[in-house]
Amino acid sequence: MSQVLDELIRTAQALVTNGLVRGAGGNVSAREDDTMWISPSGFSFLDATADDYPGVSIQSGEIVRGQRRPSSEVLMHLAVYRRRPEVTAVIHTHPPITIALTAAGHDLRPMYPDCYVYLGPHVPHLDYITVTTPELAAAVEQVVQAPGVRGIVLRNHGTLTVGASIKEAYFRALAMEEQAVIQHAALQVGVPRLLTRAECAHLDMLGSEAYRRELLARMKG
Ligand SMILES: [Zn+2]
Repeated sequence: MSQVLDELIRTAQALVTNGLVRGAGGNVSAREDDTMWISPSGFSFLDATADDYPGVSIQSGEIVRGQRRPSSEVLMHLAVYRRRPEVTAVIHTHPPITIALTAAGHDLRPMYPDCYVYLGPHVPHLDYITVTTPELAAAVEQVVQAPGVRGIVLRNHGTLTVGASIKEAYFRALAMEEQAVIQHAALQVGVPRLLTRAECAHLDMLGSEAYRRELLARMKG
């Protein structure tokens, strides 16, 4: 089996274990040469095996391997790979606290160092668009084409994160929900203090944090 597909399947299962998706929700993909491996439509990540994951041509969108139907969000995944040549993995989840917090009108903001390091100073938010539609794919494409975008909140729906490796996209997905959990908890007891621009700039200068980013970008397994 393809090593890339093997890692993608293990990561998809970890998303369930970590509560970022439930049932047959969410979808994941990874680039291997000209092909995108993507989770099959209608399967739980816990049930889908390597044979169930279709391979789709990134250029044409045609299924080039496998018998199963690709995830219904296939257009959204293809749009990211076509716009961002350095991206090799896309993860779409339905994390409950992120959905709740952002549906209530809050934006995710960096409140602690990990969130800033993994997601950057600003996570773009897209207002709700009907799931699985070409309109959603086009809107995601519009936002994700900016080189610095690491993840997007899809209001009333979920999140999408990208990475130069599967692990990087996965860590960013985890960081987004963790940030939402922390922000939500802080809002219960007061007005959250955000990291300031100066504090974020200091994080940028820290050797250890720079090292961590470098490490993330290189992570393949
Ligand atoms: Zn979804």
